[in-house]
Amino acid sequence: MKKFMYPGSFDPLTYGHLDIIKRASKLCDVLVVAVVTNSGKTPLLTVKERRKLIREAVDDAGVDNVELVNFSGFLADYVRENNISCIVRGLRDIPDFTSEIPRAYMNKHLYEGFETMFLLTNIEHSYLSSSAIKEVIYFNGSIKGLVPENVRRYIEDNHIGRICDENN
Ligand code: ADP
Repeated sequence: MKKFMYPGSFDPLTYGHLDIIKRASKLCDVLVVAVVTNSGKTPLLTVKERRKLIREAVDDAGVDNVELVNFSGFLADYVRENNISCIVRGLRDIPDFTSEIPRAYMNKHLYEGFETMFLLTNIEHSYLSSSAIKEVIYFNGSIKGLVPENVRRYIEDNHIGRICDENN
């Protein structure tokens, strides 16, 4: 069975992530979407919330071969122990490329069987990042069209991540 893994913080899931999930899921039997729980970034959403939102968005998109896991360990070990055929990463721009290439080489060094596959972002999503979304939310801007509808509704309905509600 061909199992790919797509790790990320998905905090929150954006249309850029969802596009990578849809495309990668067509290339394998099972796509393991791994929610990284120790990214070091200040989280907007709990891991539980992120997982729930990813599951809903993936179901809404009709993708039926996604398995969700939490991940906080050593990627090379996880890949070896769980027979992951390859890790999927999205590439938006040169900084992504610059940070991803040494990481891929290091993982290959750590485990010979480690393969990394890069999918180029859909050009429409090339400017989308979770940190940019967080900034828009912080200032109470609209995230419509940037994140899946269920993610937008959840964040807006629960007033998550806003600088201060009385400014709204
Ligand atoms: P972000 O970089 O948005 O904070 P993550 O850390 O969750 O997101 O990134 C997980 C993976 O998804 C990385 O490989 C990243 O390059 C990729 N990714 C993030 N946003 C996009 C996008 N808009 N298009 C394609 N890939 C993306």
